[in-house]
Amino acid sequence: MIDTAEVLIVGAGPAGLLLTGELRRAGVETVVLERHPRRPGFCRGFNLNARALDLLARRGLADRFVAEGWPVPHAAFTGLPVTLGLAETHTDHPYSLGIPQTRVEEVLEAHALDLGAEIRRGHELRTLEQDSESVLATVTTGDREYRVRAAYLVGCDGGRSTVRKQAGIDFPGTEATRFSLLGDVELAEPDSLPFGFTAGPGGKVFVIPRPGYVRIITEDGQPPADKDTPVTLDLLQTAVDDALGRHVELRAARWLTRFGDATRQAAEYVRGRILLAGDAAHIHPPAGAIGVNVALDDAFNLGWKLAATVRGTAPAHLLGSYHAERHAAGAHVLANTRAQVLLGNADERLAPLVDLLTRVARHPAGNRAFAETITGLDTRYAMHPDTEHPWIGRLAPNLSLATGTGETDLATLLTPGHAVLLDLTGGSDVGEAAAGWSDRVTLMKASCPARPELRAVLVRPDGHIAWLRTGDHDHLDGLSQALLHWHGPAAG
Ligand SMILES: Cc1cc2nc3c(=O)[nH]c(=O)nc-3n(C[C@H](O)[C@H](O)[C@H](O)COP(=O)(O)OP(=O)(O)OC[C@H]3O[C@@H](n4cnc5c(N)ncnc54)[C@H](O)[C@@H]3O)c2cc1C
Repeated sequence: MIDTAEVLIVGAGPAGLLLTGELRRAGVETVVLERHPRRPGFCRGFNLNARALDLLARRGLADRFVAEGWPVPHAAFTGLPVTLGLAETHTDHPYSLGIPQTRVEEVLEAHALDLGAEIRRGHELRTLEQDSESVLATVTTGDREYRVRAAYLVGCDGGRSTVRKQAGIDFPGTEATRFSLLGDVELAEPDSLPFGFTAGPGGKVFVIPRPGYVRIITEDGQPPADKDTPVTLDLLQTAVDDALGRHVELRAARWLTRFGDATRQAAEYVRGRILLAGDAAHIHPPAGAIGVNVALDDAFNLGWKLAATVRGTAPAHLLGSYHAERHAAGAHVLANTRAQVLLGNADERLAPLVDLLTRVARHPAGNRAFAETITGLDTRYAMHPDTEHPWIGRLAPNLSLATGTGETDLATLLTPGHAVLLDLTGGSDVGEAAAGWSDRVTLMKASCPARPELRAVLVRPDGHIAWLRTGDHDHLDGLSQALLHWHGPAAG
């Protein structure tokens, strides 16, 4: 017997869990395969950044994270001795939220299950093949093998993605040249090492406080030929002592691992009916603490496009726009992390560059530009028709709105996952122009006292502005083109 699903998602990490929630919200039947029977006991990431929180807020999901995380109002660019302030950035969440990745996954999983998602733990994707109609996947669980046929399959299966390899998608990039050892451990003497960087005669040790333990990172000067060889506490202890030139006793290891500085990006995020999101589509060193956040960004961009494609309402190019938008964004992330790795290398030849960038980052405008770049707050997608207005293509601010039935805001209107057309004219022209899309686009007549110059705004389901009119241009040129471009032909 062959199981069926409209969309088969491989991997229950941040990307897979948010994506299944987005698809379920749109009524798409999903099955998630996760090879691990349960979530691992260690935690990789520890933050949600401003952009990820802004996106999650467009589905009513940010507040539950904010309620339990700890806000840090600044960020860092590895290699630059400058604090990047987040207070002046364009966001509703001007901070990085400290919260374990495992907790983010738990909340997203509970949310997806509430929406009817099916998550099969202990089920591993082994092979797949696609034709013009569907994708056929072979899955193993215990000693049983079975097959699933789906209209689309999304690989959210991490950096070593089986989906990417099975689909034959190239993964070009740079090999790792340096490796680091990481240990979640306890310091026998809590005051023996301060938090942050400590430089010694043999290298540097980085210490990050964690609840009840510390995360220690130091260079792995002699990585073994097989980089998957398990890291032992003895190995980490020796590396730390060698770097510091003294003994700092480590104990009670919870997680020991090794990571390199390879950066790679899938050449295609979409190949026929197979798609990639999150680490399956891009890998980079953890500098900048961005991986979870980009994985969520990919899933958020893909969800509404894939749902509309499965429903048959999407224009043919819509899935391709996922590649165009997120591949470009991923390339920026890779460039940012590579820059941080280079600047963090303490290479004397880079000193003039570090000096120049430090001076730029100390300038208020430069500081904000750095902060918005490394958090993805500067993300802007190409729109059709594109215009000069600085908001076009960007995530819409969470506009406060007064409507006939009371006060609301844009994030609340976006929560169901539909596009929103704000009619702020007080007339009927906007509604009439968009009448043929009323099954896909929520029309809201309102006023926006804080932005009286706005006349009408079309916001995609992911919160990005597709089209807008201000008081200077009262005509509706481009509205029907934008509706057609993102949502297909008008009904009836
Ligand atoms: C040491 C370290 C520290 C990090 N710190 C941060 C940080 O502070 N902030 C941050 O934002 N990011 C951080 N990251 C990066 C972050 O952990 C990843 O970018 C993020 O987990 C990617 O999410 P994902 O959903 O794409 O993939 P993953 O979280 O890797 O999830 C993929 C899932 O797919 C499953 N899977 C794989 N193959 C199969 C298969 N064949 N069949 C079924 N299931 C399969 C895996 O078991 C896994 O559960 C860190 C990473 C590391 C290594």
